[in-house]
Amino acid sequence: MKLKIMENSGFCFGVRRAIDIAKNATKKYEKVVTLGPIIHNPQMVEYLRKKGLRYINNISEINDEAVVIRSHGITYDDYKKLKNMDVKIVDATCPIVKKAQKFAQKLTKEGYQLVVLGDKYHPEVEALLSYVDDSCIVVADIDNDLELNNDKVGLIAQTTQSETKFEQLAYKLISKTYELRIVRTICNATKLRQEKTAKLAKKSDLMIVVGGKNSANTTRLAEISAENGCETHHIEVANEIDFNWFKGKMKIGLTAGASTPDWIINKVKNNLKKYIENEDKNS
Ligand code: SF4
Repeated sequence: MKLKIMENSGFCFGVRRAIDIAKNATKKYEKVVTLGPIIHNPQMVEYLRKKGLRYINNISEINDEAVVIRSHGITYDDYKKLKNMDVKIVDATCPIVKKAQKFAQKLTKEGYQLVVLGDKYHPEVEALLSYVDDSCIVVADIDNDLELNNDKVGLIAQTTQSETKFEQLAYKLISKTYELRIVRTICNATKLRQEKTAKLAKKSDLMIVVGGKNSANTTRLAEISAENGCETHHIEVANEIDFNWFKGKMKIGLTAGASTPDWIINKVKNNLKKYIENEDKNS
C-alpha cells in the first residue's frame, strides 16, 4: 500500500496572513474578538480561543474589544456599524476576497447585472452581495434557470469555486446575453489545489480530504476527488479515520483544504503511515 500526499496541502497565503494578523492583535490589544470564525476550521478557531481570540456572531456582542475582520470579510453594513463604534478594527480580509468585492462593485456601477457563481449563504458571498444592487443573481447549481433582466451581464465567482463549473456557467451565459464580461475571481491557491486533487484522485484508489466540514474550499476538494471517480472521505481530524476504508486499496491519496493547519495534516499523515507500515509487515 502506498500513500501519496498532495503538494501545497494546507494553509494558503490568505489564511496564514489572517492568522498572523489575529495572533498579533492578541499581543497588541488586551481583548480581541472576531466577527464570525477567523477561518473555517473549528480546531484552529479553538486553538486561537485559548490564545485569547474569541469569536462572536453579532456586532451587538462587542463591548470594548478590538475586532478582527476574518479572511472572508464582512458585510458593508457591519463595516459601517463598526466604524461608528469606538472600537479598533483589525482587517484580516484576504486581499483576493477584497479584489472580488471591488470587481463586483465595478461591474455593477458600469451597468452590468452581476451573476456570481457561489453559495449565497457563505459569509464571503454575503459580504460581496452587500456591495452590489439587488439585481445580482447567485448561482449555486448551473443547471437551474437564470432570470436575467439586463442584456449586459458580469460574471464572477466566489473565490473557492470550481473552475470547471465557472467555465460551464460562462458558456451558458454567452447564448443568453448581448454583452458578457467575465472576471475570473477564483483564487490561484484554490485553483492549484483543485487541479492537484483531481490529478491525485485519478491515480488513487482512496482519497482522504482533511479540513473543516464548514470549509467551502475543503468540501470542494472532496467533491472534485469524488467526481474523478475515487472513493473519498472528508475528515476534520485523524481519529475520524476508519481503517476498514483501506481494505483492498493499494494507492491512498491525502489532500487538505486551504484552512487546514499543518499539525492536523501531520497527525493524519503519521497515522496513515503507521497503518501502512503495519499492513506491509503483516502481508
Ligand atoms: S483560498 Fe484564496 S481567497 Fe481564500 S483565503 Fe486563501 S488565498 Fe484568500
